[in-house]
Amino acid sequence: MQDYLNGLNEQQREAVLTTDGPLMIVAGAGSGKTKVLTTRIAHLMAKGVDAFNILALTFTNKAAAEMKERIEKILGNNEARNLYIGTFHSVFARILRAEAHRLGYPNSFTIYDSEDSKSVIKAVVREMNLDEKHYKPNIVLGRISQAKNALVGPLEYKNDFQLQQEDMRSSRPAIAEIYKAYASRCFKNGAMDFDDLLLKMYELLNTFPEVLSRFQHKFKYILIDEYQDTNPVQYQITKLLAAANENICVVGDDAQSIYSFRGATIENILQFKNDYDDVKVVKLEQNYRSTKKILHVANTVININKGQIPKELWTDNLEGEKIRVVRSMTDNDEGKFVADTISEEELRNHFNHGDFAILYRTNAQSRAMEESLRRRGIPYRIFGGLSFYQRKEIKDFIAYLRVISNTRDEEALKRIINYPVRGIGKTSIEKALIVANEGNITFWEVLTKAAQYGFRAGALEAINKFVLMIQYFQSLLRDKNAHEVAVQVGKHTNIVKDLFNDKTTEGLARYENVQELLNSIKGWVDDQENLSQIDEDGILLDNVDNRNAQNAMSLGAYLQQITLLTDADKDEENDNVVKLMTIHAAKGLEFPVVFVVGVEESIFPSAMSINTREELEEERRLYYVAVTRAKSKLWITYANSRYKFGTVTQNDPSRFISEMPAEYVDNSYSGAGHFNVPQNNMGSAYERMNRTYTKKSDFSADSTNYNKVNSGFSAPAKKSVLPTQAPKQYTPVQKIHQPTVNF
Ligand code: ATP
Ligand code: MG
Repeated sequence: MQDYLNGLNEQQREAVLTTDGPLMIVAGAGSGKTKVLTTRIAHLMAKGVDAFNILALTFTNKAAAEMKERIEKILGNNEARNLYIGTFHSVFARILRAEAHRLGYPNSFTIYDSEDSKSVIKAVVREMNLDEKHYKPNIVLGRISQAKNALVGPLEYKNDFQLQQEDMRSSRPAIAEIYKAYASRCFKNGAMDFDDLLLKMYELLNTFPEVLSRFQHKFKYILIDEYQDTNPVQYQITKLLAAANENICVVGDDAQSIYSFRGATIENILQFKNDYDDVKVVKLEQNYRSTKKILHVANTVININKGQIPKELWTDNLEGEKIRVVRSMTDNDEGKFVADTISEEELRNHFNHGDFAILYRTNAQSRAMEESLRRRGIPYRIFGGLSFYQRKEIKDFIAYLRVISNTRDEEALKRIINYPVRGIGKTSIEKALIVANEGNITFWEVLTKAAQYGFRAGALEAINKFVLMIQYFQSLLRDKNAHEVAVQVGKHTNIVKDLFNDKTTEGLARYENVQELLNSIKGWVDDQENLSQIDEDGILLDNVDNRNAQNAMSLGAYLQQITLLTDADKDEENDNVVKLMTIHAAKGLEFPVVFVVGVEESIFPSAMSINTREELEEERRLYYVAVTRAKSKLWITYANSRYKFGTVTQNDPSRFISEMPAEYVDNSYSGAGHFNVPQNNMGSAYERMNRTYTKKSDFSADSTNYNKVNSGFSAPAKKSVLPTQAPKQYTPVQKIHQPTVNF
């Protein structure tokens, strides 16, 4: 076992050693909050606390995986795999898999992603004869989500004065009714959306005292990272769970609260002291991440905000270089500058691709950056672009697995009922949907009893064949695992064969993607078999007494984990690429060199967030998060003009730039040119660089990575060909050397 206390500072050590009772760690960026949380878990386990009794909630599943890995290293065993650790959503989904039946859902409930949710809303709005342009699915879903996160159910919505007022103001009085219809449709479909994973967990604990008591006793120790970004429903759940033992440790930074638009509230941090008796508060003030200059700039900017908990971070790290602020004429020049600078830094200062992060306020800003990186041949990855699991061919294939797992899942059924084409036309589908709605039965039930409903002969035959096929797949679960079933789906539906026969570039890519999906399922199944699946207290596999149910559970669990991947949960293999992401997605992360781009008025702060002090302060906190991601070098760039919605707009540099102390800022760089270095130097540098970058074989160390990442570049429609969402813990696709499945 490692001496995990060694190297911690005094406050950190105190936080780790205070195991019992409520503990709050409020501290600035890079002060080791996450490190303390990790070490504290290791310490609890070293003291003999069973991993099964520890609940740890993190911001991403990747962060959870990293924490587990570190704990295993500290303890020198693999007990950490038994921890309940992950995002709120994934941990609660895992619990609901065993408990959902109490709330009337199948335990194999489907998790709707936002696309599924929007499709349900669209259908509901249409059925209610409302103006579909006014009641846009994403607006309506946003309102419903807001309500759910504030613990306002469909029935209470009507009585919520504030929500009602907002709906009146935007002239959308029907939202309450849509919410009701949406909720009952999801329930009928045996589906929970993302917010339901929290709301239903709360309902479960609140409605069933015996369940609450079981979990209170199970989770003897609760730890929460990034507590400043929890919302009311998360807050209520953790309060319920912690009530029996009060061994709860929350870690956060009020200066990094950046999710109030999703209902998170800083109040949770401020309130913590009132929620429990004898709360111990530990402040960490030493920053271990950034240079003195970066830290000073961050401190200065955040201190402009009025409502912060006062704290001053200091660091023993090097003084570092000034923060470089760079002006470019256009967004393309800005992109070019960033790419040139990355190449230059790699050559001169021996940085690797993976040392750089480009952070922006909104996803749309990635385009200019991508283009210039591509032109320079610098491998990169976008976090938050179209993910592997959002691709059409993948969603279609997965829809089969969803239906097999839960036939109530109407959205999935609609996707595949006539895919591949099998003669069940639009009219028949609509008819079946109407029958289902009117008779308040599921779409699937209508299909299974199709003979009763007067479909035309051809359609009836096709429906019957479809039902039989799905039932056949379900019967396979008796002795086949998720991967074997998926292979059969590929075979029997002809999906794989059809894709194989499509020899266009897109067809080929789709075929490869489906193969990769099958491989990733195989990898996942293998991993599961290596893991002990049954909790000591039987939580995960309650009521499981045969192989059939176990296979079904395993299929459900697979579907759950792919739905819950967040942007930040990409696989860690081939990590040596420049990372592009929004600042929101960068929370908790650190990089040697950071570019914050598009730092202009109307973009950052966003034009939508400058009307109230609260909004502006949240933007400033976001700026603080961006700045504090950098370890050694920080570049802030802006462009005078950029394309926005197809027209050129002119922007001023952001007010946040002028808020940085001038003596810490170097603005001698200009985006129109390159480094201010002698030309002859530049020439040789570029020559060398071009040689390096034009020959792929020079990337011998990570040539697969280079090729893979870049293979997406040739097809402009795709951002990356990598299944970047496959999480490491379930064996990343490219690592598996499975023979291709033949069909
Ligand atoms: P954020 O607010 O961004 O989430 P944080 O407070 O969680 O930051 P960590 O990510 O835990 O900070 O730590 C920041 C960096 O400092 C990490 O690289 C971590 O390993 C390092 N670090 C923390 N404490 C120490 C220490 N006592 N000695 C050496 N390095 C440390
Ligand atoms: Mg952290």
